[in-house]
Amino acid sequence: MKKYVKVLLVCFIVCALLTGCTGNTRAQDILYQVSTLDALMQGVYDGELTLEELLQHGDFGIGTFDALDGEMVILDGTVYQVLSSGEVVQPDLSVTTPFAMITQFNTDIQSDVSSVSDYNKLQETIGSLLPSQNEIYAIEIHGTFSYIEARSVPSQTEPYPLLSEVTEEQTVFEYKDVTGTLVGYWCPEYLSGINLAGYHLHFLSEDYTMGGHLLECSIENAAISINTVTQFQMLIPQNEYFLQTDFGDVTEQEKQNVEQ
Ligand SMILES: [Zn+2]
Repeated sequence: MKKYVKVLLVCFIVCALLTGCTGNTRAQDILYQVSTLDALMQGVYDGELTLEELLQHGDFGIGTFDALDGEMVILDGTVYQVLSSGEVVQPDLSVTTPFAMITQFNTDIQSDVSSVSDYNKLQETIGSLLPSQNEIYAIEIHGTFSYIEARSVPSQTEPYPLLSEVTEEQTVFEYKDVTGTLVGYWCPEYLSGINLAGYHLHFLSEDYTMGGHLLECSIENAAISINTVTQFQMLIPQNEYFLQTDFGDVTEQEKQNVEQ
């Protein structure tokens, strides 16, 4: 009898553990962010976390690299670096990032679109699919784009200039009739102090040779996949630049100018 009770108890514990691990899928929908966008605006470009460490938090994301060396796209667990020359490389995982957003992507909402004339229309289309303005969404758009305008930024040296000064010299690329993926996020208004309220998308071509921070696009045909994020986690940088920066000066308008 005692043995029987013990077996039951073991079964109960195993079941409880399994349920704990797999029963709550929403617990996995975490946006992990390194630093704040306001810090990037203020020229805090020193890398804080290695790409290897970053990848422990997901397989899908965007960001930049130590010293602001180009635009980051993370797709299917691989990190791509779009350099200011337009070249796309896979950086060493020991490279660090001063700002990144990463998620383990699971599709919650999916929709096919065709003939989307510009980025504004695309934002309206995505917006019509979002259940609320007040959640964070990871957004993947894979398809054929008749037009893509994207930018990248060159590596900076200390003393670091403000991001608005860097983007005045950004390189802008134009691609026509290209297949690829837009990777990015919708962030709600209440995150505006630590991110950009609205859409932030980066492009990567299917052959991994073109990409950048999205400025404009038109879509021929594409599939939109959306992952609802239910938790937000942020790494507060410990470097002197971050710790000594005055964040009172960054306005939402400045951020919109730099990012859109
Ligand atoms: Zn960007």
